[in-house]
Amino acid sequence: MEKPLYMDNCYLKEFEAVVESIKDDKYVVLNQTAFYPLSGGVAYDTGVFVRDNEEFPVVYAGKFDNQISHEVSKHGLKQNDKIIGKIDWERRYKLMRMHTAAHLLAAIFHNKSNALITGGKIEPDKSRMDFSLENFDRAVIGEYCKIANELIQKDAPIKISYMNREEALKIPDMVKLADKMPPDVETLRIVEIEGIDRQADGGCHVKSIKEIGKIEILKVENKGKNNRRVYYAVRG
Ligand SMILES: [Zn+2]
Repeated sequence: MEKPLYMDNCYLKEFEAVVESIKDDKYVVLNQTAFYPLSGGVAYDTGVFVRDNEEFPVVYAGKFDNQISHEVSKHGLKQNDKIIGKIDWERRYKLMRMHTAAHLLAAIFHNKSNALITGGKIEPDKSRMDFSLENFDRAVIGEYCKIANELIQKDAPIKISYMNREEALKIPDMVKLADKMPPDVETLRIVEIEGIDRQADGGCHVKSIKEIGKIEILKVENKGKNNRRVYYAVRG
């Protein structure tokens, strides 16, 4: 499979494709796709495949054997069928805002406290991030969130570029995940919040941080030094 279409255009909502293979009448691999599969702690896209006038809901997308597999809830698709794929945009756009918010928060936590991300789960309505933080202080976490919202107010563009892996990893703070390195590929995709953060990342983000809206901390939990847990949502 080629590079997923969302990599260069996170705003692509609809695309044409051909069914390359189908397993158990419901797991579909296409020649190209804009559906984001569950990966990197970020939830998957849902949507629909349209063949002629018939709709096949896509209820899940995952990565198997390095391919993106779409689970459809209606049977009858066949190999070589031409389809139009449509992303559930409301869900995806929320995920893009949540995911970009995660980058912004991670950058601030890292700059202020040298924190690394030890875990997380990005979902449309409520997301979670775990940080390694020496001290657990609710007021400080609240302060970081305030800084994030001030940056959003000022706005900054987000740029996608590609960089040689070796060169990219020489840049300090390029990787803020505690125990996960970017995939072992020659070229890394770099997501940059201009002037704020650079991260090797294969996911979907908004094109300017203003689109995040307002980050609201829902809950903070202390699961130990390596898991200061922050639940948040985006509003607006
Ligand atoms: Zn990311």
